[in-house]
Amino acid sequence: MLTVKGVVLMQRPCGEQDRFIDILTAECGMLEVLVKGADKLNSKTGSATQLFAYSEFCLGDRKKGVRILNSVTPISVFYGLRRSVSAVALASYFSQCLQYAVMPRSDVPEILRLMLNCLYFLSEEKMEQAHLKAIFELRLASLIGFMPNVLMCKRCYTYLPEELSFCVENGCFYCKECRPESTPEMQTWIDMPIGTLSAIRFIVLSDLERIFFFRLGEEEKVLLYQFAEMFLQYHIDRRFPALDYYKTLTDQNIPIEC
Ligand SMILES: [Zn+2]
Repeated sequence: MLTVKGVVLMQRPCGEQDRFIDILTAECGMLEVLVKGADKLNSKTGSATQLFAYSEFCLGDRKKGVRILNSVTPISVFYGLRRSVSAVALASYFSQCLQYAVMPRSDVPEILRLMLNCLYFLSEEKMEQAHLKAIFELRLASLIGFMPNVLMCKRCYTYLPEELSFCVENGCFYCKECRPESTPEMQTWIDMPIGTLSAIRFIVLSDLERIFFFRLGEEEKVLLYQFAEMFLQYHIDRRFPALDYYKTLTDQNIPIEC
């Protein structure tokens, strides 16, 4: 028997009425669980095992490598997500990143808290989606071992350069005077003002509870959003279908018909 709290990242059918779910837990990282009778009309598991639900799962012993769900109690099911197609698409992108990137040695408790915070803000529509996306991408990159070097110019150690360029590949920045020529290993550069660098520093270095709350000018924001997406994508070396779908929606936030 094992009791864990976790968030459902993926569901797939198994036979006519059963379902596999993948859950991200603080205690055990990713777990694959078989939910018997999940698709029956009178299923007892209901909303507690649906996509993005955060629940307490009571699991049976492992049999042939699979754990079977005994019982489950929902903690938060983030119903508000269903109000917007782009919110569901963005939550799916977060899930796909986690399923691919969470390794046994990752800081799983903090990664789970990051995901729960993002789901909460998405569900409550309390924050701009692009803002949440950039925070998720940069903080996740840092938690899985790809923290960018945000402290000072790689060459002259200036802490507050007026103009700087961040190199996506080596994860370091250079002030205008020190920026080297591009090479095949260092060819993706984002020129940014100090405001964008300050936001990147804040996201990767502050306590998790604080990282969602900061303000930036419009131009500084756009550069932050570009950098966060390119940085995570380059370092985990994968492009996710849910991100492509989210991008087709973001200019037209379509409400779901009820
Ligand atoms: Zn410099």
